[in-house]
Amino acid sequence: MDLKITAIELFEENIPLKQPFITSKRRIDVIKDYVLKISTDEGLCGYGACAPTPVITGDTVGSIKCAVEDFFKPLLIGETLSEELLPRIQNVLFHNSTPKAAVDIAVYDLLAKQAGVPLFVYLGGKAEDKCIKTDATVSLSTVEAMVKETTDHLGAGFSVLKVKLGGGRDLDIERLKAIQAVINDDTVLRLDANQGWSVEDTVYISKAAEQMGLNVELIEQPVHYTDLEGMAEVTKQSPFRILADESVFAPSDAARLIRMGACDMVNIKLMKCGGIYEGLKIQSIAAENGIECMLGCMMESGVSVTAAAHFGSAVGIKCYDLDPPYLVHKMPGEGTTRFDGENIYLGKEGTGLGYTKVL
Ligand SMILES: [Mg+2]
Repeated sequence: MDLKITAIELFEENIPLKQPFITSKRRIDVIKDYVLKISTDEGLCGYGACAPTPVITGDTVGSIKCAVEDFFKPLLIGETLSEELLPRIQNVLFHNSTPKAAVDIAVYDLLAKQAGVPLFVYLGGKAEDKCIKTDATVSLSTVEAMVKETTDHLGAGFSVLKVKLGGGRDLDIERLKAIQAVINDDTVLRLDANQGWSVEDTVYISKAAEQMGLNVELIEQPVHYTDLEGMAEVTKQSPFRILADESVFAPSDAARLIRMGACDMVNIKLMKCGGIYEGLKIQSIAAENGIECMLGCMMESGVSVTAAAHFGSAVGIKCYDLDPPYLVHKMPGEGTTRFDGENIYLGKEGTGLGYTKVL
């Protein structure tokens, strides 16, 4: 049955964190997020969501509202639901990856609901219950505060930690030594400098971490996002895999970095690439080149984290950084997804994103 889009609405959510989230770029205490609802003439609704992250994407509260009001409503209201809308969402305006992601996710939610299957099945995954494992973030802070967060996360059952660094090489090594003293032998570390290091810092800190015997799985976006030569240099010199994050927004960015040898892995975030439609392109470019992807997120609500989990599990991604549900007191919404510490369970029951209650 054809579905005609009748309305698009945005709902603001403010979701307090258990403790501040701090990187070398920003600090937040509350996740500010927008849930986007697309209604149709048959009563079926699709949900997406997005979070303004001005220091990474450039998208703000104002730009998100404006893009929805002035571009996505005129583009979509009155249209018949189909996959043909997905490229049009990307092309109706330049940049604005954050609101594009919210609209893209809501359209995918509707498409999967129309097909009567969970989103991960709609995207080609097997119709079985899924469980993926996420890391937990240790925010950039004092040595003492970072040790405390590390022990909290380990106490909550996490086996993989993403450690935020980027405060000067000696202090970062001091942080790693203090963390090493409290982790388990099998704890896996992902080090994320959020562009806070130079090439020399990255090589120096990598070699120090190697000598310390730390179990470092990867180093994420050590140098400035525009410094692709620097990314290529650290990819060559670091003993650990280099994961490109802020350097990769669009599929063309992924293709360029891979061609330049400027990363060993790519971090796909729906808020950077504009949603699942473009994310799938990045994933296939990476796969064609034997490059593994991480599926990450900004500080977002459960709706877009759930969308990322469906996408990743459908295409077989193994590496996840989807910890906002663990970092907040209570994630709004109910459905077939269950967030339980490092485990995210996606049920094969339900359709689309599986939400029975969103806000
Ligand atoms: Mg990152």
